Amino acid sequence: MGSNGNKDSISNDTIGKVITCKAAVAYGLGQPLVVEDIRVDPPQKMELRIRVLFTSICHTDLTYWRGQDEAQRIYPRIFGHEASG
Ligand SMILES: [Zn+2]
Repeated sequence: MGSNGNKDSISNDTIGKVITCKAAVAYGLGQPLVVEDIRVDPPQKMELRIRVLFTSICHTDLTYWRGQDEAQRIYPRIFGHEASG
């Protein structure tokens, strides 16, 4: 919730804090994604935190989920980067 009480407003309440948010997590090759709460550290230098309400799964996500290349088989992995490009 924002500092003015409007949950849709931009808030400074999380600056420098660990937050909890939902993520679609893959725990293994081709396994169903698990939507769960994860903890996210505050942004470090040259990083920023954005609020993503909805996102999609793209071809790159699917490639990693299928693990076609052995180097891609690193789990757990969070999908849904499309909101940031
Ligand atoms: Zn993508």
